[in-house]
Amino acid sequence: MMSNIKYKIVKKFSQLTLKSMHYLPTGGKSFPGYLFLKYAGRENLPQLADEQIAIGSILLTGTNGKTTTTTMAIDLLNRDMNLSTSVDNNTIYALTTGILENKSELGVFEYGIRDIEHGEPDNVQRLVSPIGVTYTNISREHTQVLGVKKSFEDYVKAKTLLSEAMDKGVVITNCDDPNTAYIGLNKEKDVHVNYYGFELDFLEDIFESPVVKCPNCGKQLTYVKYYMNQRGIYSCDCGFKRPEPDIKLTRFETQDDKWLITIEGRVYNYIIDKDLDINVTMTVPMLGIHNLYNILCSTAVYATFTNEMENVNEKIEDYFNQLDFTILPPGRFEIFEVDGKLVGIGQGDNGDALKVNALLMDLYSEGDVEFIYNTPDEYEDDVFEDHKVAIRGLNPVSLIVVPGRVSVTKAQEYYNQIKDEYDSKFIPVEYDFEKRINNLIKLIKHSKYNYILVSGCGEEQLVWDEVKRRLKEEYSNQ
Ligand SMILES: [Zn+2]
Repeated sequence: MMSNIKYKIVKKFSQLTLKSMHYLPTGGKSFPGYLFLKYAGRENLPQLADEQIAIGSILLTGTNGKTTTTTMAIDLLNRDMNLSTSVDNNTIYALTTGILENKSELGVFEYGIRDIEHGEPDNVQRLVSPIGVTYTNISREHTQVLGVKKSFEDYVKAKTLLSEAMDKGVVITNCDDPNTAYIGLNKEKDVHVNYYGFELDFLEDIFESPVVKCPNCGKQLTYVKYYMNQRGIYSCDCGFKRPEPDIKLTRFETQDDKWLITIEGRVYNYIIDKDLDINVTMTVPMLGIHNLYNILCSTAVYATFTNEMENVNEKIEDYFNQLDFTILPPGRFEIFEVDGKLVGIGQGDNGDALKVNALLMDLYSEGDVEFIYNTPDEYEDDVFEDHKVAIRGLNPVSLIVVPGRVSVTKAQEYYNQIKDEYDSKFIPVEYDFEKRINNLIKLIKHSKYNYILVSGCGEEQLVWDEVKRRLKEEYSNQ
């Protein structure tokens, strides 16, 4: 243990660098945390967290939806408590920066973990000692880390380690996803577990059903319902089955250009050490069906950790009723009219993301859909395999394939693998954003179809946002 005086100096110095963060290059937001850990030492992180955060910290992790869910949870909890936060970070340095930034009642931190080596989930658990760990989902995307292929088992293990040694607090986890449900089941003996999931009869995945292995015994799971990819209602011969959700989405209806949703249940609240009843109905913009999980998860986090029990339901409704698209990351998928045609356009760079885009397009189209597919890059054959399932589910009447990332040769290779299944063509465009933007706009304008999906891999801000912006500018007044 370092001397108390030195610790205080390092803490002060690290905090001072917070003010200059804006002037530092990308990654600057990790810098104060980096300084603290380097000079005060990691073993002093628990002391820092204790001094800065009165009640404790919550960490949010998973494959999809971390950033949106964390942002929503922060917005909700911010109404009742002072928070320390960090969004969109994957290192212990950014997390420590969030702890240094201000004194607060509660810490809410996104914590993405790609693998055990880089994410050090066991160390983070030990040093931060969270009172809450939240899981969104764990799917097979992103299993490649810095070019090295990691097994899915290792990936699940890395996520599991973030809560494995917890002996107080609450695990909040998605029970529709077998891997995150299994983490919850194994923690029931140590801590409270709040499960969230869907209870919707009509919602059913339109895609080829994935084969999902039981996390307990390795045999294939039996599904009575797939909501989205591996998420659904499942069971196994070994006795493992989907746990009942404590809080669930029970209604989802389209109402004009909004969605009407109901979330209800009974959630264990850590602060009062009692169950809290939740029953809310609200209208949200059509953010994409996967975002319903983000809304449900952030509601569960809020209900578990708010310290103001008065009007909890009203506060949740009030927040989500005012929600708009700015909550979503750049490059997000949206559907709008271009010259009398309905165009769905935006990022879909993993299998899950492309499926939800295709699903949304399917929901809004009343005729044949043309798909302008932007391919992944070299070494992304896994992503392409998942994309193929999404394309088959959509079954476009016309398929136009364009390079989405750097390699045009690889794009053609992908095209060759699917060209015979559809009425298709390949348009090679070199790696030049202006040329690619113009090509996409031209294809949309010249399309003879009324419903056009433009998705796959691409630069979020430089391509997707730019294509959307120019189309809207040109056609907004018609
Ligand atoms: Zn099993």
